[in-house]
Amino acid sequence: MTPVLAELLNAAWWLAGGTALGWLLDGASGALIAVLIAAAYLASPTVTRLVKLIRWARQPVGSETPSAAGLWADAYDALRYRARIVAEQRDELGKLLDRFRQAAEVMPDGVVILDGHRAIEWMNARAELSLNLNSSRDIGSPITYFLREPEFLAYLEQSNPSGSLLLRSARNPGQTLQLQTAPFAAGRSLLLVRDVTQIQRLETMRRDFVANVSHELRTPLTVVAGFLETAADGIADLPPDEIHHFLEMAGDQARRMQRLIEDLLTLATLETDAPPIEEDVDMRRLLEEVRAEGVALSAGRHTLTFDNSGPATLLGSYKELRSALGNLVSNAVRYTPGKGHIDISWRCNAVGAAFSVKDDGIGIEAQHLPRLTERFYRVDRGRSRDTGGTGLGLAIVKHVLERHQGRLEISSEPGRGSTFTAIFPGRRIQAGS
Ligand code: ADP
Repeated sequence: MTPVLAELLNAAWWLAGGTALGWLLDGASGALIAVLIAAAYLASPTVTRLVKLIRWARQPVGSETPSAAGLWADAYDALRYRARIVAEQRDELGKLLDRFRQAAEVMPDGVVILDGHRAIEWMNARAELSLNLNSSRDIGSPITYFLREPEFLAYLEQSNPSGSLLLRSARNPGQTLQLQTAPFAAGRSLLLVRDVTQIQRLETMRRDFVANVSHELRTPLTVVAGFLETAADGIADLPPDEIHHFLEMAGDQARRMQRLIEDLLTLATLETDAPPIEEDVDMRRLLEEVRAEGVALSAGRHTLTFDNSGPATLLGSYKELRSALGNLVSNAVRYTPGKGHIDISWRCNAVGAAFSVKDDGIGIEAQHLPRLTERFYRVDRGRSRDTGGTGLGLAIVKHVLERHQGRLEISSEPGRGSTFTAIFPGRRIQAGS
């Protein structure tokens, strides 16, 4: 017999028995009273269990079910089963949410979830950093409260924003953000935030560099092209003096382009990540070459002194060091008028060793000093060109020194002269030198 049938038969038995007994004792009214008593008797355990069920249902999911038998036990089993399914689904959802949060936290981009009113619902740490926000303080506030730029508001107004928006952030001056929204369920949207400041800076540098190189090449090319046009028109008709002058000019400009290309190639090699060749550099030989070059360049116009009391061997790249130190001497000669003095020295100092070039030439105003090692930065463009400069010499020096863990110190006074000192760390000095 099924429990349902048993319960029904039990109830029917009690009702029928009670009614019959009531009828026998007091006729119809006795039967009615007996029915009411039997019904109350039959209903009371049900009411008690219902109360227990309601109490149990109010407790947290997973709490112990009250003991029961028969149909009630079946009902509790069914309810317990449902509750377990719900609890499992809730756990699963919780884990999914945790996984989403963990994934969003490690994303290299900022992620912000906006509700239907564009208020911040959630954001990852990267978004806090890029947007200069604080989760505990700013969640619940509209994003437009923090990003008020009109272009961002217009971007959000688009019903289906396509592409991303580049925004110069007013909250973090100097910062450029790339923003992209993507709508998802229930009016919510995802705002992806990428800090592209560095990429933009590199892009600007690349553009400036290309513009600078083109500018540097334009003048010599124009001169050479002009000469070739003249030659095509009939060079034989020109007086020999003029032909000589043209050839000299064209040769100068060709050499200028050659120097520029050489310096550009040197810089390109230095800018690769590969470390410099580590060899024992014979400083005596290297300094002698640098000195001889300075003497040749000066052609007797300056007084050069030379003090070599520094270490005989330095660990590094001969080629790179030769280029860097040679540039410093060449600059001193080129920016020091005739009869000037140039003192070159190689000495040990407190941190290691220093190569210093001191001149009493034209000097440099203080405001230019921090920018001298930038590519193509010149104090006096005309003077640099006239003396065969490419504007890349000190950029090369800086790179070479960085690759040797060294640094460049510059002190200068306009009209009195300059001192450029390349400092090398002690660990580059080879033992016994
Ligand atoms: P350049 O090829 O123009 O000399 P550099 O990078 O070697 O390029 O130097 C950058 C600028 O620094 C030069 O244009 C010049 O204005 C200044 N400069 C460098 N060395 C000296 C110096 N010894 N005296 C005065 N100015 C100098």
